[in-house]
Amino acid sequence: MLLSIVLPVYNEQEVLPALFQVLPAVLKKIDCDYELIFIDDGSRDATRSILNAAAEQDNRVKVLGFSRNFGQQAAITAGLDFANGDAVVVMDADLQDPPELLESMVEQFKQGFDVVSTQRIARDGESIFKKVTASAFYSFMQKAVDERLPPQCGDFRLFSRGAVQAIRKFREQHRFMRGLVAWLGLRETIIRFHRPARAAGETKYTPIKLVKLAWTAISSFSAMPLKACLYAGILLTAFGVSYSVYAVYAALFVPSTAPGWSSLVCFQLLFNGASLTAVGLVGDYVGRIYDESKQRPLYVLGDSVNIQASGCAHRVVWINPPDSHADQNSHLFRKPQLHRASGDTRPNSEERQPQERRAA
Ligand code: UDP
Ligand code: MG
Repeated sequence: MLLSIVLPVYNEQEVLPALFQVLPAVLKKIDCDYELIFIDDGSRDATRSILNAAAEQDNRVKVLGFSRNFGQQAAITAGLDFANGDAVVVMDADLQDPPELLESMVEQFKQGFDVVSTQRIARDGESIFKKVTASAFYSFMQKAVDERLPPQCGDFRLFSRGAVQAIRKFREQHRFMRGLVAWLGLRETIIRFHRPARAAGETKYTPIKLVKLAWTAISSFSAMPLKACLYAGILLTAFGVSYSVYAVYAALFVPSTAPGWSSLVCFQLLFNGASLTAVGLVGDYVGRIYDESKQRPLYVLGDSVNIQASGCAHRVVWINPPDSHADQNSHLFRKPQLHRASGDTRPNSEERQPQERRAA
């Protein structure tokens, strides 16, 4: 059995030495061959040189280098595109997804599950704000978007080969891998674990990146926000109509009606705000439809180490594909030019049979 481990990395120079100490030692104990596929998501520190050095020493270490930062979800996609394993595990490089769990994940896979998910029962090293917003996000997602999304399950998962092949078919731009997995309805089991703090370095998710991911998760699986706008719009319109009826009544029959400047301003602001928000939401969805219609590649690869181009079955854009190294050096392998005098019909030394050559 071949186990592929997919590790997206972005500026992880501090944690990689610890990862290379722990991960291979754990994998040695599992009875299978393995490959480590690192996706360098446009790192600007020494991440790439550390990975290249590891790949030079051990050809089970493979590196895909993105041309720029495309984000963790795109990096996971690339890893799944190039993984050759019978089972593929996606995990963070910062040791927050404990490699010690791999053994039991593989056991569950051998029992016949297509997906082995991991659920965080506790989270160390995270602020209270992050814990509260994360649990609010998961319960919102489950209730409002898709009840199949198990709470507190991140991207640390094992996929069978069949599951990987199914996921590869999804090429949408705005990706939320956990949502795709839930949507597919694969045979899934869940292992619970206590999530430790980062082994080194800092989180690569800024609050803005987190909000973007949360919005991608919601908008790519639900048009519920648009419906909410519609309902709010209907409610506001109904309220507006009733208020207008009252205003006409007051103007006609209530003599002490003061010119309602403040209420006018309030309503004006409220309604304008609501309609602008609704238009903005629709605009965002239209923008996302526009992005999908362009069908751009999900990531662009710069170069790679220990990767075979034949491994990629999809529309992968590659600036320096592995084959190009052979092309660049092709002059070294070019057949020598055969010069012969005019009229000489004898075969050239390169064209002669081996026996002939030896005799000559
Ligand atoms: N990561 C990535 N691209 C990004 C951000 C993060 O490849 O734009 C990687 C990162 O190097 C790590 C994993 O995704 O291996 C999870 O990121 P992080 O630990 O920062 O997220 P957190 O655990 O804080 O949610
Ligand atoms: Mg982390």
